[in-house]
Amino acid sequence: YDQNYLANHLRASSVGQSERRFAKKPDGSKVSYQAFFGGAEALAKVLIRKGVKPNDRVAVQVDKSVEVLQLYVATVLAGGVFLPLNTAYTAAEVSYFVEDASPVVFVCGSETLAELEPIAKDLGVLAVETLDGDGSGSLTAAAQTMDIADFEAVARGEDDLAAFLYTSGTTGRSKGAMLTHKNLWSNASTLKDYWSFTQNDVLIHVLPIFHTHGLFVAINTTLAAGSSLIFMPAFNADKIIDALPEATVLMGVPTFYVRLLSHEGLSRDSVKNMRLFVSGSAPLLAETHVKWQEQTGTAILERYGMTETNMNTSNPYGGDRRPGTVGYPLPGVEVKITDPASGEELPNGEVGSIEVRGPNVFKGYWNMPEKTKEELRENGFFITGDLGMIDERGYVSIIGRSKDLIITGGYNVYPKEIELLIDDLEGVVESAVIGLPHADFGEAVTAVIVPESDATLTEAEIKAALAADIAKFKQPKQVFFVDELPRNTMGKVQKNVLRDTYSETPSDAFVDD
Ligand code: ATP
Ligand code: MG
Repeated sequence: YDQNYLANHLRASSVGQSERRFAKKPDGSKVSYQAFFGGAEALAKVLIRKGVKPNDRVAVQVDKSVEVLQLYVATVLAGGVFLPLNTAYTAAEVSYFVEDASPVVFVCGSETLAELEPIAKDLGVLAVETLDGDGSGSLTAAAQTMDIADFEAVARGEDDLAAFLYTSGTTGRSKGAMLTHKNLWSNASTLKDYWSFTQNDVLIHVLPIFHTHGLFVAINTTLAAGSSLIFMPAFNADKIIDALPEATVLMGVPTFYVRLLSHEGLSRDSVKNMRLFVSGSAPLLAETHVKWQEQTGTAILERYGMTETNMNTSNPYGGDRRPGTVGYPLPGVEVKITDPASGEELPNGEVGSIEVRGPNVFKGYWNMPEKTKEELRENGFFITGDLGMIDERGYVSIIGRSKDLIITGGYNVYPKEIELLIDDLEGVVESAVIGLPHADFGEAVTAVIVPESDATLTEAEIKAALAADIAKFKQPKQVFFVDELPRNTMGKVQKNVLRDTYSETPSDAFVDD
């Protein structure tokens, strides 16, 4: 493996200890480190035989399995670039991504083969293979016939591409982020140390593998430390509660924690063996943090990252985990807050654009040189598209997305401030505050609210309740009630969809003040 930067590092912790367990599958069977890497080597040979050469993409749209993790390592070993696609994508979406990324091999589940194979072949893909959630399929069948006695990984250096991941598409069309061997390894080794991962750790793996959180944060950190996984195909509160006594770490998104909090099996006793609960990908409400602490006696550790940079910041493992913040910049990662207009650095306490620099920052967007140039400065700082601030103690907090900032009558309005107030009102489940085009104000503050099913809230009541708390320019000019907010497959609220939906509303519908 010496010649292959990432694979060599990922295997290093288990060399000579190959009998150690890597994963427990949903059916209870165990996969050793030796079996894991052996299977990955066989799959790498299959990929090379199918035509994969250095830098070639291997795209997969498959259900989660330990075998697809092997396929990830196999792609790296074969010198290729691993490209996992969201399983929720339709054939039309898959076709867009396949055309954009032009993979050499495309892997799907046997159920979608009939539909996707002709599309992929038309787009020039050399080989279309199958891999199902239970690990069966044409790829693993071919791997079983490979002899790996003389296996040699394809040489790749730290600046070569290892993976290609599309962003979640929360603010617009997904962009393909190109990640190098060094990007992935620097983050894995940092997180292993920062979160004190050891060989004794057992991670409950329940996140999807087509996203940076479930693939790189969870898997690379586990491999870096030689820890092991309890592998779960999807979120299931009962199964997670059952696994807690044999696990030590859970990585999740905020909704996991909200759901677990209403499970009767969650208690101080049930989490006795657990040493770390991580949350990220979306804001963790302070309320969830506090409730979790009360009910389990442990503080959730919130961190902040993105497709383009892996992880940027984390609350401390040993110190104070502050609700509502995403913690400190990780070692080796620089975070600064800049004026969105001028790019000048702002002092602590002021809200601005979050910029990030470090070995974790990606190489650029695939096929989007202009966008890459706009967002990746020559000095190495990446303009994340998030707004935030750094407090006097150095903790970073996220205020929202730059694209969601509302400018009304020349004033900046941060939707999050108003959303937090609305969410606190009696009868409100959640809300999203957006700016809609308005002839006089430029944009008009607009609230979209999900009421509790038995609540009888009115627009006038919402406006009256907010009037006392916030300046007039921040108060919603109009309020809409909906059953649910539009979310993408990662559970993130899609404000662009809301803006499209409601921008049809004639601007004279707004109270003129
Ligand atoms: P796109 O870039 O296509 O619009 P996306 O930004 O949602 O989609 P991801 O890269 O999956 O795609 O998500 C990264 C974003 O998730 C961050 O930029 C940030 O806005 C949000 N995020 C991640 N962690 C947190 C967190 N702890 N708190 C609040 N927001 C978070
Ligand atoms: Mg983004």
